[in-house]
Amino acid sequence: QLSERLIKVASYVPKGAKVADIGSDHAYLPCYLCLQDPSIRAIAGEVNEGPFQSAQNQVIRVGLADRIEVRKGNGLAVLEQGEVDTITIAGMGGGLIATILDEGINKLEGVTTLILQPNVSADLIRHWLRKHGWFLYSEDIIEEDDKIYEILVAKPGDDKELYKEQTQEKLLLGPYLMKERNEAFKKKWSYELANWQRILKEFDKASGNDQIEQKRTELNRLINTVQEV
Ligand code: SAM
Repeated sequence: QLSERLIKVASYVPKGAKVADIGSDHAYLPCYLCLQDPSIRAIAGEVNEGPFQSAQNQVIRVGLADRIEVRKGNGLAVLEQGEVDTITIAGMGGGLIATILDEGINKLEGVTTLILQPNVSADLIRHWLRKHGWFLYSEDIIEEDDKIYEILVAKPGDDKELYKEQTQEKLLLGPYLMKERNEAFKKKWSYELANWQRILKEFDKASGNDQIEQKRTELNRLINTVQEV
């Protein structure tokens, strides 16, 4: 049984897509996609030997070796330009996902859908997408096993309208998520707020220096942003 998190990621993959799942680990996501939709073809990319082997074994076990190719390599380097139209990257930090996109930017030509599921720091991905001409098409936030996950879907295009107002708030919290404000969203940001306030208290105890003052200002800015929303 695939996790609710990956089922959500899968739900954004267009019918008949040519998909690359980067950091695929056991290749559960591409296997699920191919079993759901007989017209899907996939590449599972993995940089580490252990997960690469697991992916290969899983693909053979479910009899999908003719539709899923498992490749070993770093990020988008496993792809030829124009080979896929959809890329999924799930279960990593937002910083790593943004780095993978950045390092493989020449492989994004011809890609029409990015489905990104950061475990933390989704804001770094929103910044990256905005800077590189990707329109944030949809967002989701879900809770599973006491963890909260965000899912960002992007398509090539201009997003000036989306970020016209409240730009900083939207980049941090997600333009669609902050509008919807579901339970998972409230839980995530209540937790972050409590954490930042705890850190501020620690700063109060420490003797002030420039670095602490800078961090204090930054935390206060974040707290105000989140509290306003
Ligand atoms: N995508 C799966 C999921 O969401 O359940 C697996 C997530 S797992 C926590 C992260 C995987 O990404 C690991 O198997 C790791 O080896 C792989 N990985 C990390 N950095 C990578 C990179 N630069 N290129 C390809 N794979 C990477």
